[in-house]
Amino acid sequence: MAALRGVGIGQGVATGPVRRMAEPLPAPENTPSGVGAEVERARVAEAISYVAADLNRRAEAVDGTAREVLEAQAMIAEDPTLADEVEERVAAGATAEWAVHDAFAGFRASLEAVGGYLGERAADLDDIAQRVLARLRGVPAPGVPEPGHPFVLVARDLAPADTALLDLDQVLALITTDGGPTSHTAILAREKGIVALVGAVDAVSLADDETVIVDAAAGTVVTGPSAEELARAAERAAERKAVDAAPASPGALADGTPIALLANLGKPGDAVDAAARGAEGVGLFRTEFLFLSATHAPTVSVQREAYRELLAAFPGRKVVVRVLDAGADKPLPFLNDAHEENPALGLRGLRALRASEDILREQLTALAEADAETEADLWVMAPMVATVEETAYFTALAREYGLRTAGIMVEVPSSALLADRLLAHADFASIGTNDLTQYTMAADRLLGSVASFQDPWHPAVLRLVAEVGRAGRELGKPVGVCGEAAADPLLAVVLVGLGVGSLSMAPSALADVRRALAERTLDDAGRIAAAALAADDATSARAAAHAAG
Ligand code: PEP
Ligand code: MG
Repeated sequence: MAALRGVGIGQGVATGPVRRMAEPLPAPENTPSGVGAEVERARVAEAISYVAADLNRRAEAVDGTAREVLEAQAMIAEDPTLADEVEERVAAGATAEWAVHDAFAGFRASLEAVGGYLGERAADLDDIAQRVLARLRGVPAPGVPEPGHPFVLVARDLAPADTALLDLDQVLALITTDGGPTSHTAILAREKGIVALVGAVDAVSLADDETVIVDAAAGTVVTGPSAEELARAAERAAERKAVDAAPASPGALADGTPIALLANLGKPGDAVDAAARGAEGVGLFRTEFLFLSATHAPTVSVQREAYRELLAAFPGRKVVVRVLDAGADKPLPFLNDAHEENPALGLRGLRALRASEDILREQLTALAEADAETEADLWVMAPMVATVEETAYFTALAREYGLRTAGIMVEVPSSALLADRLLAHADFASIGTNDLTQYTMAADRLLGSVASFQDPWHPAVLRLVAEVGRAGRELGKPVGVCGEAAADPLLAVVLVGLGVGSLSMAPSALADVRRALAERTLDDAGRIAAAALAADDATSARAAAHAAG
């Protein structure tokens, strides 16, 4: 056997024969049009409206994030700026094919230059351009193969439109050579519960029909597996099915210690699914996700409606809403309008809100009004808090609006190191391990070249978590984790061992974490955490935790 490495999405394992996605259509030649601008213009218009209609038709067949992705793609296809760019080329004598190819490539380059979230959307444009080109050439759009039997799909980076529509009876697992853990492919794969590995650079060597084991938990693709390895993989897949089917009891350790298992959500519509998967409440509602495409601050009434819908899904339950976390990878035009060299270190999170305090006040107004109309236990928190003064500022402001429980996110090392002093002013702390890792390791969380530093298992990150856990215990204030670390079952145990009392994650991760907790006592968790803390680096911390437990 040999193993290729990538970034696993979720904890699944699957076995099957490889099928590679067809290579993209070759780029057209830049030869002058032989039929004239009028005809080329009509060809472009027909092809674009065909593709937009096709994407909208696919959108209607699905719901949730898949639907939004497809609808967004249909809108991009008909974007007026893009249409102008295409027209400019057609008017200058280009063929429809070249005009589309060149205009989309230019748009893609500007998105990539912006980087962050928008940069990761560049693949969406390629997909749309390919669909339009295929229509112009009268050939089928490149897409997911249909060999007539279940298979492991290997692709460069699956188009969002294809990921959204994957037939889960046919596609046993998904491997991409490009893409990172925050790409659309990864987000949709996680939501659909597909066994997936992204950024598996060496998967280019996989050939059609060879049998592989895709192990998302280990982040590997095993090629040429032995009979024993295949049997073990089948056993694990069956165990996972049983875990998923198990009744969703509240989170608890083997000795009965309760550890609340909560959901990370980005829109109210996802609350029902989260509750069905056994989320005991919401540990992180990312309000900025509601307004990523807004050019103006949302009104109080629009916000109140969204928060009311969310809170109504969890009567009597804790729902932690984070005020707008704008900046860096999630810029909101109405909060971040200045160019910054290092936006992750800039006017983001609470800093940006303070600079536009009227927007923060309106958000707190909307939250207080939604709270008054519903039965959930609303907690509010501020992102990117770095000082005691900021903590006191935010909690006092929240209380001014009658919001009873106000806390902070610990995402900056300064907040972790002074957690006892910050918690003196806050009702609770929620550790955002994504940013805490980024800032502790000085490694941009979106940059593939430094991804190996972006590992929350690093003992430096764990030591900071322990500091917050200790402060919470001493002051009797709840401490939770809502970064991706909480979704890693063994790391979740370590976090509990470091004093964390609740874990919030993507709903699809709840079952695995629930099981990992139920298998260990509080003493076990402390022992496993101590083993990880004593390691020199992330890899050995992971190994030490496995060995301990
Ligand atoms: C975090 O930083 O860990 C976090 C939960 O916030 P976000 O991922 O939205 O930055
Ligand atoms: Mg964060």
